[in-house]
Amino acid sequence: MAEVILDNLKKVYDGGVIAVHESSLDIQDKEFMVLVGPSGCGKSTTLRMIAGLEEISDGVLKIGERVVNQVPPKDRDIAMVFQNYALYPHMTVYQNMAFGLKLRKFPKKEIDERVREAAKALGLEEYLERKPKALSGGQRQRVALGRAIVRQPKVFLLDEPLSNLDAKMRVSMRKELNLLHKRLQTTMIYVTHDQVEAMTLGDRICVMSHGYIQQVGKPLDVYDRPVNKFVAGFIGTPTMNFLEGELKEVNGASAFVAEGIEIPLSGKYGELVAGHLGQKASFGIRPEKVRIAKTESELEGAEKVLPGKVEVIERLGDSQLVFMEVAGQPFNAKIDSHYEITDGDDVWVDLALEYSHVFAGENDKNLTLSAKA
Ligand code: ADP
Repeated sequence: MAEVILDNLKKVYDGGVIAVHESSLDIQDKEFMVLVGPSGCGKSTTLRMIAGLEEISDGVLKIGERVVNQVPPKDRDIAMVFQNYALYPHMTVYQNMAFGLKLRKFPKKEIDERVREAAKALGLEEYLERKPKALSGGQRQRVALGRAIVRQPKVFLLDEPLSNLDAKMRVSMRKELNLLHKRLQTTMIYVTHDQVEAMTLGDRICVMSHGYIQQVGKPLDVYDRPVNKFVAGFIGTPTMNFLEGELKEVNGASAFVAEGIEIPLSGKYGELVAGHLGQKASFGIRPEKVRIAKTESELEGAEKVLPGKVEVIERLGDSQLVFMEVAGQPFNAKIDSHYEITDGDDVWVDLALEYSHVFAGENDKNLTLSAKA
């Protein structure tokens, strides 16, 4: 059991590329932490520094109580599972799982106990005598996990372990990983570019962009309270709507204004954006929080109604995604699948301030965060 502490960790590659800027993150004992962000944001480099596969340029890394900056990978009490897990093709599942322990000269009996225990945890008991080529992709991935589990490390490091699997298999492996984490009660650090994986697996998620940590928090907190426009746009499918415009004073009060759009920002919202009047801004609202209707009167209790035109509809069965244009800007709504609506319809769109965010200023920060519960 161990916590992992990154204290101003930095990585500069040869040639001066700063892959990870000074990053600090406390990962608690037994926590499932997901590092998530688009390709090139520095998440693998961060994981590889924790693993000891990449030299740390600056900062301090602790695993448990111990500073491990200079400790070689094999002595860090970690086990890593990669996307390309390459099992030994000529060995059986049992031999693949036992191999690392054999190299470390564990007694035969202990190896046997550990392999059988891991096989049980992973539902691989029936497959122990099979060779990898006689297994499905998901089963092979489980063997790769098994190789890590038998080591009984203090920390598991997983780098996109599911990305080679098909969509259905990914969903079932997600569930297995969740159960496995509960069973093993071990710290796990998991890297993915897939925000759905991050949301569904992480106790907490760490959203990264361009080598910087943007936000760390529980998945739903990050979803509801994104600190900036990047996080708001990266987490959540379909992505948050952003209307582009500026903050202005209109009739003595603050408002978000764009061509054909004027959204009064009253009360607390007005106060929060007051320091940014005259600046460019984005008005954000998630598609599932947008209400639409064919007549204005259908939108009971509406706060701010704008006219929109439906361009395309994607019927998903459990819901439908309505792609519209609102005052010349793209805008989507996720609504009940049985609401009757067709391409080309003129609609009314209701934006509730309660679910909206205003982004402006440095790093497009969320100015309205403190107005959220
Ligand atoms: P991610 O895992 O988020 O896709 P990486 O950590 O692999 O991102 O890479 C972060 C940045 O560091 C990228 O700009 C990448 O090009 C750069 N980078 C990664 N590995 C090396 C390397 N060995 N040498 C130089 N630059 C690298």
